[in-house]
Amino acid sequence: MVLSKLHFNHLLMGFLLAMSVSLTTTIFLLYTGERMATRHSPLIDAAKEIKLNATQGHLWFEEILSGDSHEDIDRVWEYLEQADWYALAMLEGGTNSKGVFFPLTDADMRLHIESVRSALHEFDQVAYQRYLNRQSSHPGSDIDQAFDRIFNDFMGKAEHVERLLKHLIDRDLKNFRKMALLLISLSIGISMVIAYVLYRLEKQRLAHVSAMEQANEEIQKSHTELNYLAHFDSLTGLPNRTLFKDRLDQALAHAHRKSAHVVLLFIDLDKFKAVNDRLGHISGDLVLKHTAERLQRHVREDDSVSRLAGDEFTVILSDIDSMTGAMYAAKKVSRSILQELSDPFTFNGNTVFLTASIGIAIYPQDGKSGDELLINADHAMLEAKSNNKDEFLFHSPEINQRVQRQLQIESELRRAIHEDQLTVHYQPQWDVQSNKLAGIEALVRWNHPEEGLLQPNAFIPIAETNGLIEEVDIWVLESACRQYRKWRTEGLNPGKLAINISASLFGRQDLIHIVTRNIAEHCILDGELELELTESALLENSEHTQILLQQLRSRGIHLAIDDFGTGYSSMAYLRQFPAKTLKIDRSFIKEIHTDKAADAILLNMAQLATSMDMEVVAEGIETQQQEHFVRSLGCQFAQGYLLGMPMSSDELRTLMIAQTDQNVSLLPPNGR
Ligand code: C2E
Ligand code: MG
Ligand code: MG
Repeated sequence: MVLSKLHFNHLLMGFLLAMSVSLTTTIFLLYTGERMATRHSPLIDAAKEIKLNATQGHLWFEEILSGDSHEDIDRVWEYLEQADWYALAMLEGGTNSKGVFFPLTDADMRLHIESVRSALHEFDQVAYQRYLNRQSSHPGSDIDQAFDRIFNDFMGKAEHVERLLKHLIDRDLKNFRKMALLLISLSIGISMVIAYVLYRLEKQRLAHVSAMEQANEEIQKSHTELNYLAHFDSLTGLPNRTLFKDRLDQALAHAHRKSAHVVLLFIDLDKFKAVNDRLGHISGDLVLKHTAERLQRHVREDDSVSRLAGDEFTVILSDIDSMTGAMYAAKKVSRSILQELSDPFTFNGNTVFLTASIGIAIYPQDGKSGDELLINADHAMLEAKSNNKDEFLFHSPEINQRVQRQLQIESELRRAIHEDQLTVHYQPQWDVQSNKLAGIEALVRWNHPEEGLLQPNAFIPIAETNGLIEEVDIWVLESACRQYRKWRTEGLNPGKLAINISASLFGRQDLIHIVTRNIAEHCILDGELELELTESALLENSEHTQILLQQLRSRGIHLAIDDFGTGYSSMAYLRQFPAKTLKIDRSFIKEIHTDKAADAILLNMAQLATSMDMEVVAEGIETQQQEHFVRSLGCQFAQGYLLGMPMSSDELRTLMIAQTDQNVSLLPPNGR
């Protein structure tokens, strides 16, 4: 597996290296063997030729001496010369018809051959002497004996040389074999080392290559992931703001070329924050995922749904021929989206009812660029939200103006909270049966640096849409409690303190802690603090409300249902909420004696509340007629311009002091 991956070039290099080592070894061995063969066998032949020629010369000589007159003595001398030639060839080299003879280099051997040559010369001498004295050299004579002895001595030496030579050759051969064996083993060893080193190198290289490939893959993967994250929303899988802008620009460019229209829907879920606050972020995320799925069901394949942020989604409907077509498509898709979202979301045992507000901007009428179109669709959405929610609105210049004003207020309000531009006014609540001050309602005002004193309707609805309302409420709660304690320490008694709590703050899990901290800090006693909540805020948070109301009650804090009658909830339904006070909305008071049905409703409300042990506060009393009527109905408490305008803390203090000094029951500033 690993080997199969070995780098071909490395293998080739290793193979060539090993081959060259083996080849060099082989060539060396061949050369040495050849050299030995060409040098050694002629030397053996030469050693034999010395003996052979000398023996033939000796035989020939004996023949001649024994009387063979046909033989020529010169042949004897030729044989002996021939023998000497071979001996000399062994020392100095030579060439004849029998071969090429290389000189011996071994010093010992050379001495032995020298000695063979001297023995041969001696024999040649004695032979010559004997031939000259052949008459007297009969067998057994001195010279004959010397002749035989010298010849035998020569033969002995020649044979010794031959033996030594054989021995020398044997030794050389053995050495050669040893060396061959050594070299072959060495070359095999070197080849194996080369192969091993190459294998290791290759393994390392492969490890590096695979590490690099892995790193590459990881880089590639994270690149793809980054690319995905850069263009898609990880929660819903929808295109994010970046990709949305890209697609919108493309759709606009295409529409520009073809003189077509593009519809942009800006969708924002209503009160999504409450889902997050009450059910937690995991559930909030699930709602967003389901919303994304539902939205995708209502667009064509080439239209595009994106998630911009939080609970904000957009839909691009592109390539529409006419303005009428664009408006028709925008209405159709918006309606079906609102319809689809109105189905409750059910998951993990929770059921969530959601609505959405949709703003619509159409290219080219409502904007030429993507940014302009987006801002205008956003503004139309904000307007839809500040209306009734759960509706869609087309962009218009008037909407733009209004929304811009709202946005300005929104940004200024953030600063206002921290720069103490807010202030609290207090409106008295009267016990109309005993004509005494029964309580005060804290109502926020904004001391705007340029626009003067702003009433809540100029900024509370805006604060409600962007979540700032919670900060406002907490600020009012703290300020009013602090002021209340101050009056109390001065010996003044404003009665109970009523604070308006928004649905948003009421939905918060930590509301009880916020309130408890305040009453503890400002020593508010049992029954001194009342929280005013609208019916809708109560119903919206029904599960959480039950627990919270119990907790509030156990700490001596009362609850008032504010603006009662505007939320269309029945009294019977409200029974489940243990509210102390019911504040009848001023719209009913306004109708007193002008609409008989309104009188009857008021009567009913008052009776029901009394039967449920609730105190009734009639709001918006502006005329004495109204005041008489509510009193006649058995309402104990009333609040209204007739009885007392909302006033600053100083004004209320003055009023309280004046009334205490006169030691009479408090009378409203307007009098009655
Ligand atoms: P609300 O809680 O029903 O407060 C009573 C409102 O009715 C006050 O308006 C008060 O000035 C007005 N009002 C009282 N008597 C009469 C009357 O005889 N005739 C007429 N036409 N109006 C009368 P305001 O101060 O403008 O407050 C409006 C609303 O703003 C409040 O209605 C309340 O819902 C909200 N609000 C005020 N302060 C706060 C606050 O601190 N937090 C929250 N969440 N909402 C607040
Ligand atoms: Mg109120
Ligand atoms: Mg009210």
